[in-house]
Amino acid sequence: MPIALPLNASRYWLRQASVPHALVKGEGIGPHSGGDQLIHAAMLIADGKIARIVAEPAVIEDSVPSLDLAGKMVLPRFVDVHTHLDKGHIFARASNPDGTFFGALTTVAADRERNWGADDVRARMDFALRCAFHHGTGAIRTHLDSLAKQSGISWPVFNELRAQWKGRIELQASALFPLSALWDDPADFRNILSHVVKYDGILGAVTYRGDPLTEQVDKALDEFIDAATANGLELDFHVDESASPEARSLEKIADAVLRKKFRGRVLVGHCCSLTLMDDADRARVIDKLGEAGIAVVSLPMCNMYLQDRTSGRTPRWRGVAPLHELDAAGVSTMVASDNTRDPFYAYGDLDGVEVFREATRILQFDHAGRPWLESLTTRPATQMGLDGAGHLAPGLPADMIIFSARSFNEWLSRPQVDRLVMLGGKAIQTRLPDYAELDSLFA
Ligand SMILES: [Zn+2]
Repeated sequence: MPIALPLNASRYWLRQASVPHALVKGEGIGPHSGGDQLIHAAMLIADGKIARIVAEPAVIEDSVPSLDLAGKMVLPRFVDVHTHLDKGHIFARASNPDGTFFGALTTVAADRERNWGADDVRARMDFALRCAFHHGTGAIRTHLDSLAKQSGISWPVFNELRAQWKGRIELQASALFPLSALWDDPADFRNILSHVVKYDGILGAVTYRGDPLTEQVDKALDEFIDAATANGLELDFHVDESASPEARSLEKIADAVLRKKFRGRVLVGHCCSLTLMDDADRARVIDKLGEAGIAVVSLPMCNMYLQDRTSGRTPRWRGVAPLHELDAAGVSTMVASDNTRDPFYAYGDLDGVEVFREATRILQFDHAGRPWLESLTTRPATQMGLDGAGHLAPGLPADMIIFSARSFNEWLSRPQVDRLVMLGGKAIQTRLPDYAELDSLFA
């Protein structure tokens, strides 16, 4: 049965909502015991905000209309901290020839060179944002390929869309380019940095591609961090996205953050090879991440697609970062969408339900007794500096998602296409954009 909100009341109670204990604050709701367990709560929505949250059973005002959710799950909107809106949806003209990481790199580079004008980037980003909004995402950080001429194209388009989407999706962008630009092409690094500063972005780079583990990398990281400090920027790296247990750029980054005593927030993405290191090396690197206060985001859908792919051979591992070990060590761990219908990941729709469902299966979040839903809500919200996102509490806007599922088992077993997304206490009335809208980009 479709979920319907009570009339057009500006003040109403949602009764008997199942909410994850770790994501909700309110009256009679005490400390939680660690897992993703659900509790029943009543929420008073008034003038677009959450006025009260009360543990059920609750005594409430009779005169206010109410909707009994009969245990339906209610979540805050998702916070997707690692995406690539600029690459999204190019599948029809630039699919990965063999599904490998190298195939992705070369295919994207050729498509970017040929096709990524402002109109093309804008159309695909806007399409992706409409998908994300429809599915119930409230905040997104995207990486933007920033080498050479692309900075001057993608950053202004991003800035335009950030303004257009304000109030619906909070947007942040991080630069993406190989760290080697710092010694190969210092002028381009200065150009990228100027765009990050001008458009209030995050300073990011990728260290995955066999950067020689020499003093050159340490020197570049020092310079990179100095540039961030001088400009008040946060950091976000693509790191060790490979199957090599020898990859050490993650450790280099942790060492550099500690060496430079960098105080801003630092996020590292992928870290696939950390899983494959021998136990002593992995433990040492995880300790350093904890000491440096570096947070880790794993991209389970993309990395299971790309990693350990060899034609004619069945994959032997899942490609994800060791989130259980990182979480146990106190490192802030997250999951996110990463790529969408492009050579790095052929599928996806910026749907937080899909991300968490796949993460649960690939990373075995289930049976773990940890509040893993924080990895797509409160933790990325903290990383993005968004106090009001990723949880439900009195005083916040009534932005949330109501599902027909009443338990995590029901929630994770179906795609939840009948969910109701609320913004400011009202249901959003959107449809998923039709793929045919993009056809003109592929003529
Ligand atoms: Zn990425």
